[in-house]
Formats: sequence, structure tokens, C-alpha cells
Amino acid sequence: MKTIALVAHDGKKQALLQWVAAHSAFFADKALVATGTTGKLVSEVLEKEVLCLASGPLGGDQQIGAMIAEQKIDWLVFFWDPLSSQPHDPDVKALIRLAVVWNIPVACNQATADFIVHSSLYQQDYQREVPDFSVYQKRLETK
Ligand code: PGA
Repeated sequence: MKTIALVAHDGKKQALLQWVAAHSAFFADKALVATGTTGKLVSEVLEKEVLCLASGPLGGDQQIGAMIAEQKIDWLVFFWDPLSSQPHDPDVKALIRLAVVWNIPVACNQATADFIVHSSLYQQDYQREVPDFSVYQKRLETK
């Protein structure tokens, strides 16, 4: 079963909730994990269990980042708000960075999320390439 992580800043929560409601059938066979407030709201809208981590500013973004590094997340939907500053901006950047490091699909807006939901790759059980960092790790061991 694919696991999708969901995060939305306050200014983008309504947009995310409308988007998940519009795609409720898609989520029926997916495991969901989310930052605290986002997860509670998504769980109410979808009437589905969501693993709710800490609220983003209290460490939830970092918890999702850790799960990405542990290969526990298949897709990140992160509706971050480009029009307001966040107290946990370093965590926001770190989360997006880890999604790129581990080659996780990441949708930061509705249009991209729509493209991924409707991608034929999703129906074909797409296996993303997990980057091989063994050379990088060896370099660290010889230091
Ligand atoms: P929240 O956190 O879901 O607890 O609001 C999201 C965030 O701001 O990163």
C-alpha cells in the first residue's frame, strides 16, 4: 500500500481539504500520514484514519522528513503558503530538500497534485528509483 504524506500551511488548508475531498476515491487504498492539524482536518473530511504527527511548527515537518529518509513515504503533498512567513521555515526547507534527496514525488500546489493523481504511472505501480548513496557513505567512512 502506498503511503502519502500531507502537509498544508494555515493559508493553504482549505485548498488542500477541497483537493482531498475532490479525490476521496483515490485515497481509499492509500495510507495517510500528516502533520497534526492538517491530519486531523483531512481525517474528518475523508472519514479515514490518518497518522497524525506533531504540528508542523512543533516538529511535524521534521518527523515526515525522517520518514522520507527511512523510505516510509511514497509521495509528499505539501501545500506550503508562498504568501506568509513561517516560524519553522528551516523545517519547511528541510522537508522539501529531503523529498528531493530521496527522489520522492512532491506536489507543492494543486495543479501538480492533479497531475500526479491522474498520472498513468500511478496506475502502473510505478517504482521510483531510490538513489544509491553508497559512494557518498564510503567517503564519510574513510574520513
Ligand atoms: P499543521 O502543520 O498541519 O500542524 O498545521 C503544518 C505546517 O505548518 O507545517
